[in-house]
Amino acid sequence: MLIDNHGRKINYLRLAVTDRCNLRCNYCMPSEGIDFVKNDRLLSISELKRVSEILVSQGIDKIRITGGEPFVRKDLMKLLRHLSTLKGLNDISVTTNATLIDPHIDELKELGITNINVSLDSINRETFERITRRKQFDTVHNNLIRLITEGFNVRINFIVLDGQNEQDIIPILDVMKHHNVSVRFLEEMPFNGGSKNFNTIKWNYKAILEHIAEAYPNYQKLESPKESTSINYKIEGHAGTFGIIPSFSRTFCGSCNRLRVTATGDVITCLYGKPKANLRDLVRGETNTEKIKETILDAIGNRAKTGFEAQEKHSKTVFENSMTSIGG
Ligand code: SAM
Ligand code: SF4
Repeated sequence: MLIDNHGRKINYLRLAVTDRCNLRCNYCMPSEGIDFVKNDRLLSISELKRVSEILVSQGIDKIRITGGEPFVRKDLMKLLRHLSTLKGLNDISVTTNATLIDPHIDELKELGITNINVSLDSINRETFERITRRKQFDTVHNNLIRLITEGFNVRINFIVLDGQNEQDIIPILDVMKHHNVSVRFLEEMPFNGGSKNFNTIKWNYKAILEHIAEAYPNYQKLESPKESTSINYKIEGHAGTFGIIPSFSRTFCGSCNRLRVTATGDVITCLYGKPKANLRDLVRGETNTEKIKETILDAIGNRAKTGFEAQEKHSKTVFENSMTSIGG
């Protein structure tokens, strides 16, 4: 079992499989993209398998595949097939922009990988295209509807962006009213490849909730698992739920159960901190498994208590980073 130096059990791995993406969401990276790493610096599928196996043997029982856009990686399904055979791994999920998932939907279902988070920050074509800087609205919309109607457990991630998409907060709840999905509104974080930096945000979780409450006064707070990052609610008469993720305000650090491994093998123990180790050279070299396990234990044994503490430990350079490198 993985327990950090603050007594928190770590059982959830967010594994980025690439830093590349076919969209250019303006809160995630600049229009020209970032300096994507060379292919040989990315973990290969067999290296991703080994890292996952080791971490599952240490107590990780939930893996979320993220990126970049996971499905730009042509060999992604090989990894997912392997993960679905791992004993002790109870939950495999994927976070995707849903542009490229279509050909894989049947196989995902066969593998039992039904927890899919779809990033969708607008239900209006123009707004979607302005934010993502690409014309993929129909594809995303069609794939989202297909996932929902085929019974996947879909959660929509909607980042509330000042001056860009607040007008869609209520409409997306209206559109999803009859669908059993969870719409999660996220606070924007300053991980956008350095194109903008900020110290406060207008759309924090309180502002988002107040805005929703004006339109839907009949909502109820739901019980959520203690390690959940979202505060969840149900609106009377709606089939699904909605949630708010205070990712900028960071009110959830006390129960954080997450570990991140980037596409280049960096081990990140806090989203707001610097990498604590790199596993790529270890799994690529002759390093024995025990040594790799020790490296992971060391990183987890030196975790910051909160995102604010992690951020204090280094200069502001972390905010030159993009979510496409970290995986969200
Ligand atoms: N490409 C996939 C997608 O967009 O779903 C997976 C990778 S993306 C980096 C993972 C998550 O990070 C997405 O839900 C995205 O909305 C979120 N994200 C990216 N940049 C963010 C930012 N600046 N603030 C908050 N969330 C962000
Ligand atoms: Fe790509 Fe996801 Fe970043 Fe958008 S949020 S640019 S889809 S990695």
